[in-house]
Amino acid sequence: MESCEAMVRNKFLRALRRLGKRYVFNLYHRSKLSAAHFPPAVWIENTNLCNARCVMCPRDKHTRPQGIMPMALFEKLISEIEKNNDAVTRVHLHNYGEPLLDKDLALKIRLAKEAGVRQVYFVTNASLLTEEKVHQYIAAGLDEFKISFYGTSPETYNNTMVGLDFEKTMNNVKTFFRVRKALNAKHPRVLVQYLPQPHNLGLTDEFVSMFDDMIDRTLGDSISIFNLHNFGGGRSYRDTSAPACTICDYPWRTMVILQNGLVVPCCMDYNGEQVVGDVTVDSIAGIWNGTAYRQMREMFKTLNYTRYPVCLRCEHIR
Ligand code: SF4
Repeated sequence: MESCEAMVRNKFLRALRRLGKRYVFNLYHRSKLSAAHFPPAVWIENTNLCNARCVMCPRDKHTRPQGIMPMALFEKLISEIEKNNDAVTRVHLHNYGEPLLDKDLALKIRLAKEAGVRQVYFVTNASLLTEEKVHQYIAAGLDEFKISFYGTSPETYNNTMVGLDFEKTMNNVKTFFRVRKALNAKHPRVLVQYLPQPHNLGLTDEFVSMFDDMIDRTLGDSISIFNLHNFGGGRSYRDTSAPACTICDYPWRTMVILQNGLVVPCCMDYNGEQVVGDVTVDSIAGIWNGTAYRQMREMFKTLNYTRYPVCLRCEHIR
């Protein structure tokens, strides 16, 4: 049996080893971080309106303006992305809200594809995914989308994704797979996501068996089981009392543009607290290479998040 002294010593050594690993990891990570001239992934929040009131989502706490990004602003962004399409690997057409509420979504997908974006993607609850829209999105060239489907029965689903209807959405999902197959289309691939939580009883196995035969793995479809995360003070599910010990690399790889043009570094910032620019008055490149982003990168490199209240409530750096 371990003596008390040995226990304390071993605990100390284990902590030292953990810290050592983290220190070496951060040194390595820091040496690899270099900002390209343009963000590799650009998230464009086409809307932050939603037709659901999911229990875990902080959207109901938005005090920022709600709406749909005007087409003129979207076109301005896409035109700049086209000039830099060597650097951009992904455009996400969503952030907070249901992207299918935007009647111009198919057009926006098509413009992004015509601009040379390799991967165009969005996340949807699929409640508005009619057969007509399936045809439009496939024709527009959509590469991939994720379906948030957070229940395995009408009861668990409707209790979690409040305002939506299990049967109707399930029919939409089945319609999508039927149409894609009938058209012999190779895209978009689909990720069907579950979020185990008390409201849906966390029936992960049941969820997997519900979709396992529906998806087509040869086209890259998959099932994802995700975990609840914090939303920068909007909703908190994880403990963030430990000090920050990891460099967050979002400012090197992603830019999130809210529907009104304000720019934040990541999607955890649900209410637009950490604004680093405004694309209505500046360019994507101007903001990406501007003072606010550069300061953020310098501070993140030294694990200094003190100026960033959303980061201070984020579990990714713990
Ligand atoms: S630390 Fe968290 S909140 Fe801050 S930029 Fe990174 S992921 Fe976003």
